[in-house]
Amino acid sequence: MNAPTSVAALAPTVKLLIGGRFVESQTTEWRDVVNPATQQVLARVPFATPAEIDAAVAAAQEAFRAWRRTPIGTRARIFLRYQQLIRENMAELAAILTAEQGKTLADAEGDVFRGLEVVEHAAAIGNLQLGELANNVANGVDTYTVLQPLGVCAGITPFNFPAMIPLWMFPMAIATGNTFVLKPSEQDPMVTMRLVELALEAGIPPGVLNVVHGGEAAVNALCDHPDIKAISFVGSTKVGTHVYQRASLAGKRVQCMMGAKNHAIVLPDANKEQTLNALVGATFGAAGQRCMALSVVVLVGEAREWVADFVAKAKTLKVSAGTEAGTDVGPLVSRAAHQRVTGLIERGVAEGATLELDGRDPQVAGYEQGNFVGPTVFSGVKPGMAVYEQEIFGPVACLAGAETLDEAIAFVNANPNGNGTAIFTQSGAAARRFQEEIDVGQVGINVPIPVPVPLFSFSGSRASKLGDLGPYGKQVVLFYTQTKTVTARWFDDSTVSQGVNTTISLK
Ligand code: NAD
Repeated sequence: MNAPTSVAALAPTVKLLIGGRFVESQTTEWRDVVNPATQQVLARVPFATPAEIDAAVAAAQEAFRAWRRTPIGTRARIFLRYQQLIRENMAELAAILTAEQGKTLADAEGDVFRGLEVVEHAAAIGNLQLGELANNVANGVDTYTVLQPLGVCAGITPFNFPAMIPLWMFPMAIATGNTFVLKPSEQDPMVTMRLVELALEAGIPPGVLNVVHGGEAAVNALCDHPDIKAISFVGSTKVGTHVYQRASLAGKRVQCMMGAKNHAIVLPDANKEQTLNALVGATFGAAGQRCMALSVVVLVGEAREWVADFVAKAKTLKVSAGTEAGTDVGPLVSRAAHQRVTGLIERGVAEGATLELDGRDPQVAGYEQGNFVGPTVFSGVKPGMAVYEQEIFGPVACLAGAETLDEAIAFVNANPNGNGTAIFTQSGAAARRFQEEIDVGQVGINVPIPVPVPLFSFSGSRASKLGDLGPYGKQVVLFYTQTKTVTARWFDDSTVSQGVNTTISLK
């Protein structure tokens, strides 16, 4: 936590949202929200007190009584209005996001847009929250299901997608009839708060959506709170594992989407130019700070000779502030992230990987204080090296080699993570073999970042995910609802009584 400087003390404060009112926190703990390209303090974010967190949950609990009975069409129409408001405010949202997070304006619009798609999905909730009915399962008996909201749900989000990931959560939870407490990343909460303002403007009633800020203590309070029924978490594996265990122990339904080490396999028959464009974009875009960023490329057979071409393309990327025209790679989110990434690059060199391109200390005119690391490429990367074992979350490519597709698949499957993977090839047979045998939940075929649109669910697997149901798509409707099965018989006057039935069979 940084003690507010005199300049920072003048920065605006980020508000809590409790019971429909944006309120100033009474806490004594504050953290600066800093522009990563300039170090300008943009705002101060509070670490909410236990009483404020309790008040937010209580407001959500109170609002649930009416919200759960609100007709499905009324709920859906709020999200129709919300998606329109997000579209109308896209440029402003992207500008706030770039200022506090660092990614380019175009990519910031992408961040908002991928969240907007989930809002559109929430607007279609009438088609999604349907039960099932089996007619005449016994004489005059029908069985049907209703998907009922759980109550108060909570969401905990990371810094890297401050628009998209909050929008993965509260629209689907609220559209399905729940009320919500959101805990955004303390590193970049401003665009999230602007999205929350627009949600209220769209018609979300007081108490249905609440926001608290903070870090570990706030997260632990949400995990422990007896009135919270479900928690959706997106963030690192270490924190996600903690949240999963702690909240599960408190009896909650929990889904945790966590860290990654995404591999691409490149076969020598792949279209070289398109493949290199895709690899370089997916490795260095957003400065590598995406959970679905490619961080390991396994070059198979003769494709092992493509290292120099990969490096040449990486060198063409422009490193600068996200607001500058033509920027490909913006700054890392914080000084701490910069230190961690450059420290890992140092370890890669010390542990024997070949540093083909060193992006440390790029000269960025006009932004000398920014947390920049340029595209960095290692070849000869092997398991056991820190650059391979850890999620770098920076613009660093790890190139490895394999003789055959089978060897490459075994290499990827031996890595514990399972968020995303991709193959580049022109062979349908090879792609199908990869699709069948790779043990990773999201597979791209000539698509480097296979994040599904919300008609499907985000389906990371193995060490990248805890909990069975993913965010958005159909799975999240099951996550945010309890399936109630009703078995009903309506006696009709003409029914001849069959007498007492002492068996378990339905007759
Ligand atoms: P993080 O785990 O540090 O923070 C996530 C949230 O947890 C934040 O709201 C933070 O305030 C809170 N938190 C931090 N430390 C905590 C602690 N000790 N106890 C309790 N709560 C704590 O993650 P981050 O650095 O903000 O985000 C980057 C990570 O998120 C990467 O690992 C990335 O792969 C992952 N991520 C995963 C997905 C996915 O869908 N799988 C998507 C985006 C990001």
